[in-house]
Formats: sequence, structure tokens, C-alpha cells
Amino acid sequence: MGRVLVLNTGSSSVKYRLVDGDRRRASGMVERIGEPGSAAAGHEEALKVVAAELAAGGFGLDSPELTAIGHRVVHGGTTFTEPTLITEEVVRKIEELVPLAPLHNPANLAGIEVARRLRPDLPQVAVFDTAFHATISPAAATYAIDRETAERLRIRRYGFHGTSHAYVSREAALAVGRPLGNVIVLHLGNGASASAVSAGRCVETSMGMTPLEGLVMGTRSGDLDPAVVLYLGRTGGMSLDEIDTLLNRRSGMFGLCGDNDMRAVQERLAAGDADAELAFSVYCHRLRKYVGAYYAVLGTVDVIAFTGGVGENSPLVRRTALAGLEALGIAVDPARNERGERLISPDGSVVKVAVIPTDEELEIAQQTLAVISRTNRQ
Ligand code: AMP
Repeated sequence: MGRVLVLNTGSSSVKYRLVDGDRRRASGMVERIGEPGSAAAGHEEALKVVAAELAAGGFGLDSPELTAIGHRVVHGGTTFTEPTLITEEVVRKIEELVPLAPLHNPANLAGIEVARRLRPDLPQVAVFDTAFHATISPAAATYAIDRETAERLRIRRYGFHGTSHAYVSREAALAVGRPLGNVIVLHLGNGASASAVSAGRCVETSMGMTPLEGLVMGTRSGDLDPAVVLYLGRTGGMSLDEIDTLLNRRSGMFGLCGDNDMRAVQERLAAGDADAELAFSVYCHRLRKYVGAYYAVLGTVDVIAFTGGVGENSPLVRRTALAGLEALGIAVDPARNERGERLISPDGSVVKVAVIPTDEELEIAQQTLAVISRTNRQ
């Protein structure tokens, strides 16, 4: 047991949670860092705001009872396949990975740097979004492009949302009494990704070298013929930055119907809006395709777990994506699904279907404590 401060430092926000054992002690967020009117002009000020909020709650950053700080770091490349105690060398290696995650890793590093300055005596641990997916095979990780180019530029599939997939796959397997079973996790939030997990090890995941690949998301396209990018440049006259913005910020549900929030899409759907109908059907079709693909990758499936804001709250997405799959042993009980019960498949189903709220901060805290106790034993 121990107390861990979990920090998720983005370019414009810092989210924090103080975790005590498996309980949330305090949590909050400093937003719009650097923007006019924000409480913080930079990451240093943002962490001071976090420290002040924690102190106001009676448990300051300077508390001797704080065991460690756990940092979310987006990209661990092939360098970091496990949560890692932060040292100077680790910081340098995370810096080397900045070209792979130019928006995220520098912000994560800023959080680490300030936190180490504020509490130099405290162990700090980096928990990587990519690490859970490090176990996918070369067959799953390799893009079929020129190998020399791929190796030189570190182009391969890494996968993201790893702490969520780790937490939810474990909880789902436990929920059906098959801790070593086969699980398909559908993390459907504003970002969305799927994974196939066997006996606790990830064997496939839908995000790739970047979080753009895979499922249809709030504002990201997911899978796309790569030649579309060439066409947008050559024929559409768009610059690389414009294409980047189009695919990451003006695509997905937002690009298809102008709304990236599934609640709004569903309301429009109920009112017979044709754009929302198309967006919803593209979203669910892609999801169903991944379920089928991951079923084939795993061979047998014990449980399909829905998580994330959409996965946890949208009975309509869950039942539409899995409709008509009875021949595969997959079914959804309408009443259980509407109530969002932990198990929403009918009794006796071959493949259980579960709704498992994700908890990335708790997972980061637990992984942080595991690293600390391993280090203490050495
Ligand atoms: P997340 O990124 O996991 O926080 O998920 C955020 C997304 O969840 C929002 O953008 C919504 O699209 C979706 N969401 C939240 N609540 C609901 C709901 N009751 N029904 C459908 N979608 C929801």
C-alpha cells in the first residue's frame, strides 16, 4: 500500500489524481495552460497549482506520506516495454522518442522535469501508453513496407491506450472467472482502440505507429487507404500540416456529421438525421470488422469488454456493433445492455460481453507502486 500522485501532463493541461491504496483521495485538472486567463502560464505554474490544490485538500505535495509520483508517458517506442523508474538516463531516452510523439512526449517530459525539481527525494515512475502492446508479435507489429526505411525511421505498430487495455482486459477476464482467458477490449472514448489479449498478454491492437490507425474516433479517421494522403497532397493541393489536421481533427464522427460527441450523434439519429445515420453506421461497421478480425486472431474468445465514454454509456453502440453475431457465440441481452450491467450477454453465452469502466489513473498508480516495491527488493 502507498500513496501515489498520478500526473498526466499534456501540452495544454495537467490532470492529476492522488491514489491511496485503491482509493481516489483527490483529483483535478489545470486546463488551457499558456492561454490568456488560465491559472498557469506554463507547466511549472501548472504543477504549482496542482500542489496548492492538494495542500488545500489537506495533503500537500510535500507530504512525507507520499510514496511516489507516477507519470503517464505516451510513447515508449521499443525502448520501454515496462513501467520504469525515472533517472537522468530514462529522461534522455524519452527525449530520443520525441520524433515519434512530437506533441505528447515533450509535454510528458515537462511534467517529469518539474515534478522532479519539486520533489527530488521522491521516486518517480514513467508508465507508457505503448508498453502493454510491446508483446504483439512481429507479424502484428510490422508494416509491409521497405524494411530498411522502416527500421531507420522506427516505423512499426506500437499501439496506445495501453494502461486502459491492461486494466480492462484484466478486470474483464476476472469478471468471467477466466483470468488466463482470451479478451477483446473495445476502448471507445473520444479516441478509440481495440485490442486482443490472451492470458494477460496483448497480441493485437488497432492503433499503430500513431493513434490515427484503426477504429473511427471522435475526430480521427482511423483506417484509411494510405494513397488518400498522397491524393490529398498531389490533387487536393493540401500541405502535410493541412492533411495532418484533416485526419486528426476534422475526420471521424466530426468529419462525417459535424458532431464528435456520441450523445449528440445519437440524438440526431433518433430524429432521422441522414448525416448522423451515416456516421453511426460507419462507426459501428468498423467496430464489428475489428471484433471479427480479433476473433480470428485469438481463435476463441471468452469475453468482449466495452469501455471508455462511449463503450460504458452507449447501449445503442454496443448492440449495433455486435448484432447478428450469434453464430460466433456472441449475443447481447437487451435489458442488461440498457441497464449497463457488468455482464450484458445472456446467461449461457459462449462469449461473454462485459461493460468495464476503465481507470487509467488507478492502473498507473498500481504500476508505479509495483516498480517501487520491485526496486526496494533489489
Ligand atoms: P472519453 O474519451 O472516454 O472520456 O469519452 C468521451 C466520449 O464519450 C464523449 O465524447 C462522448 O462521445 C461519449 N459519451 C459520454 N457519455 C455518453 C453517453 N451517455 N452516451 C453516448 N456517448 C457518451
